[in-house]
This record gives sequence, C-alpha cells and structure tokens, in this order.
Amino acid sequence: MLNLDGKNALVTGIANNRSIAWGIAQQLHAAGADLGVTYLPDDKGRFEKKVGELVEPLNPSLFLPCNVQDDSQVEAVFKTIEDKWGKLDILIHCLAFADKDDLSGDFSNVSREGFTRALDISAYSLVQLAAGAKPLMGEGGSIVTLTYLGGVRVIPNYNVMGIAKAALEMNVRYLAGEMGPLGIRVNGISAGPIRTLASSAVGGILDMIHHVEEIAPLRRTVTQQEVGNTAAFLCSDLASGITGQILYVDSGYCIMGM
Ligand code: NAD
Repeated sequence: MLNLDGKNALVTGIANNRSIAWGIAQQLHAAGADLGVTYLPDDKGRFEKKVGELVEPLNPSLFLPCNVQDDSQVEAVFKTIEDKWGKLDILIHCLAFADKDDLSGDFSNVSREGFTRALDISAYSLVQLAAGAKPLMGEGGSIVTLTYLGGVRVIPNYNVMGIAKAALEMNVRYLAGEMGPLGIRVNGISAGPIRTLASSAVGGILDMIHHVEEIAPLRRTVTQQEVGNTAAFLCSDLASGITGQILYVDSGYCIMGM
C-alpha cells in the first residue's frame, strides 16, 4: 500500500489551484506525508496570501518563501527544515520559468540573458535544491522533478524551455548516480500538457492540448491529480528500485509516430 506516514515532504512550485505541484501536494498529504510548502515571494505578498490560503487545508508544518535565484532564501529553507524537522524524506521540484518572448517564434532569437535565466531557474535549481536536501536525507529519500517531452523532441514554441528540460533530465541522471549510494532516489515525471500559469506562456498551448486529445492513445490530456499520484508512488517504498528515470504521464502521447 502507498503509505507516506512519518515522511517529511518539501513541495516547491505551487502558484494556484491549477499548479501541478498542488496536485502533488494533495496526493502526498492524502498518503500521510507531513508537508513543507514554498512559494515565490513578490513585493505585494500576493503569492504568499494566495498559496497560503490554498494549502491551509493540508496543514503544512512549514510555509516558506523561496525564490531559487536568491541563495539566501534557499539556504533559509533548508536551515528551517533542519531546525524544525531534523530530516527530509521527499523533495518535489516543480518549478520553471522562461521569458514569454522566448516561448514563441524562432528559437534562434533567444538572448543570452533569456537563455541563462531559463536554464538557471528551470534546471540549475534542481541541483541547488538537491544539494540542500542531501545532508538532510541521511535515512534515504526521494527527489522528483517535472519535465516535458519538449526536452527530448522539438515541440513548436517550447524553444529555450526545451533546452532547460534537456539539462534538467540530465541533472536527474547525474544526481541519481551521485546520491544512489546514500539511498536517495532521483526521478523525473514527464507530464503531458496541462493548462497552468506556466504553460499559458507557451505559444499555442491550447492547440497542443487539442492535438494530444486527438492523438494520444487515451484520447485525453492528463490531470494534476494523475501526475500527483505518480509523484506519490515515486516517493513511496513501492518505487524503491526506481532511480534516474523519466516516467511519462502523458496519456501515452510520446509513443505515437504522428
Ligand atoms: P505553475 O505556473 O503552476 O508552476 C510554476 C511554478 O514555478 C510557480 O509556482 C512559480 O512560482 C514557480 N517559479 C517560477 N520562477 C521561480 C523562482 N525563481 N523561484 C521559485 N519558484 C519559481 O505551472 P506548472 O505547469 O504547474 O509548472 C510546474 C512544473 O511542471 C514546471 O517545471 C513545468 O515546466 C512542468 N511541466 C508543466 C507541464 C504543463 O503542461 N503545465 C507539462 C510538463 C511539465
């Protein structure tokens, strides 16, 4: 049985009730995990309020600001986990960012700045958070990140985010190689397209969703809850032999040749 009783889980990337991280947080909570939730702070405190209200029913033990571009905030998150929990069992990395202008048109138009920002926030951040989690996962642990088919195939408009996802997926393998001897498993979920704040920045996302509904073997897109179920599985002992993998949760779309 899928049981996460007694597990401490840090969930990043909840922006609203459409976020994939929200689907994951709900499933981890349902399986018995104690949650720590981070939010991206902004000047007016809007995300803090909105995300705080959303996650309240899940009774998170920790609710912390974390902009992955701010090293001091990342350090403070892990210091708080050390002080309050003493150990971490699960890390959910569910965040990404690229400038909207870099998510349509010609890929070759991407600026050095836009390229660097997308790779920093969307790919380096996994390495950064995994490094913070590692010393707290003395009893072993599970790290899960979110990726997309655009990291291995050319998807119209996904552009620089595809490069970031390719780096992210390789991060999964290198981190799994390094941390496996410590009992820490690192995996990625490649989710099919879902309407969220982040995906709405990608040009033609609705066309992509309709295409999946027509072509994918299951003839539909996936839900945040389905991705959440897979994340909970990967974080549980049921997946104790799985590491370094990218698991597709995409209604089977990636197997199709048209
Ligand atoms: P979302 O907009 O709900 O989540 C993206 C999150 O990234 C937000 O919570 C945002 O606050 C966070 N974020 C952005 N910049 C940050 C920073 N500097 N520091 C900390 N957090 C930051 O959208 P989502 O679709 O749920 O995206 C979650 C993950 O799932 C992303 O990695 C995305 O690429 C991936 N994914 C999404 C889809 C999809 O179709 N929606 C498909 C496959 C993979």
